Amino acid sequence: MVTFFPMPYPGETLYSMIARYHIWSGNLNSKATLRDLFNTTSVTAGRELPANIKLLINNLPDKCTLTVDEIIKKHTLYKCYTAFLPSERATYIYDLMAGENGSLIFTALGMCNNNMKIDSSLKYCNQCVESDRNNFGEAFFHIEHQVPGVLMCQKHFSELYICNKSTQIKNRQEYLNLEFSISEKDTIVAPLNKKIIEHQKKFSKNIESIINGSFGFKEMNFFREYYLKELIHKGMAESRMKIYQQDLLRDFKNYYGDDYLTLLGCNFDIDNKYNWVTAITRKHRKSFHPIQHLLMIEYMNIDIKELFYSDYMEVRKKTYKNKTDEEKASYREKWLKLKNEYLNENTTFIRELDKATYIWLNKYDRKWLGENSPIKKTCGHSKKINWEKRDEEMLQEVKEVVEAIYNSKEKPERVTVGAVGRKIGKVYLLQKYLDKMPKTKLYLQEKVESVKEYQDRRVKWVRENVTTNGESEWIVLREAGVR
Ligand SMILES: [Zn+2]
Repeated sequence: MVTFFPMPYPGETLYSMIARYHIWSGNLNSKATLRDLFNTTSVTAGRELPANIKLLINNLPDKCTLTVDEIIKKHTLYKCYTAFLPSERATYIYDLMAGENGSLIFTALGMCNNNMKIDSSLKYCNQCVESDRNNFGEAFFHIEHQVPGVLMCQKHFSELYICNKSTQIKNRQEYLNLEFSISEKDTIVAPLNKKIIEHQKKFSKNIESIINGSFGFKEMNFFREYYLKELIHKGMAESRMKIYQQDLLRDFKNYYGDDYLTLLGCNFDIDNKYNWVTAITRKHRKSFHPIQHLLMIEYMNIDIKELFYSDYMEVRKKTYKNKTDEEKASYREKWLKLKNEYLNENTTFIRELDKATYIWLNKYDRKWLGENSPIKKTCGHSKKINWEKRDEEMLQEVKEVVEAIYNSKEKPERVTVGAVGRKIGKVYLLQKYLDKMPKTKLYLQEKVESVKEYQDRRVKWVRENVTTNGESEWIVLREAGVR
């Protein structure tokens, strides 16, 4: 039992609190401090996920209000490391930290075989050191600076420094006090540039949400389902079963760049089919490093709160039946219509007619588009539309239809561009590209009927075809449907 223990500063690590105790206690060596706090000297000074926390709490003075739960959740990296783990695993790690089996913690994370480098060096920000000295009278280690993948102080957007002493220390039982450990030999974690700062801002914001939020735990494959849903939306997957891995890998690399991925220990070889980006989108039983999840989340622009507040079944359902299903059907229909209208044309030609449809299908329905596009003709240069020739052909077709409408003995039909287009099966071309066919356009301008003209023609038709026996004018108008 100790007679005093420092209360934590905001965002301070437990390690840092113990390091401050060590100095204040006046203990000559770290073993004495370990004996004070844990009743044993066989404890290692855990930096990220320390254990023996119950022992520590039991040794604190009665008036000290710190609890095991508060220490684990607020003053260690527990929340960061377990955010993406299933509940049972997270609880197991929690119990290991509270208890005395610290050596099992790393294995329990289940990340042994994902090649992520473990770096437990201690980091700090120079500007935070200054402001902490002003506000609290001493510097201390901040939780958010120790999170793996964090290269920048999110408060000051400045480089983090690696406490050189923490990389050299042979004695795993020593607690370094930041005030006494800053040295000229300390080097920055990584030089920052504009691009890194932008990525780090997003990365840190998500870390902050995890540290300060109280998100529930999820099933291992919950995140995969959520990512799939987003990938489908992004056009990187067609369905849960079909992901365009090569496109995804290239786009992912392009988004972050090799340098940034290397800094975070997450770079991969596109040609290696066992790369982690592919693995995380497949059904898996091993867990992934939180950095990897956070990279996926940023890449897909996922709102982390929305992610954690989503329900597994809901996500699965959404993955199956995306809102794009209806859109898909309508785009497919448009494409097929064009394709059937222009049986002799190639994909480029049809794409030019309706670029939006082509782009949408190419993005969200690529496989189908491939199967439903004109078969490539091997010979020849890419075809440019010969509008002059098309105008001539169109004019002939349009003339025939218009004349047929005017000469019909049936009940009159109004002559409009749409009606003519429907009759020749070329509505789209007529409505969108009439300007490119001046002769057809001129002809249609002359022949298309105004409402008034159409009414007159109907009245005339009624007079000629319906026996009204000289009845009054209004009956004729009624028969003609003219008010
Ligand atoms: Zn700072």
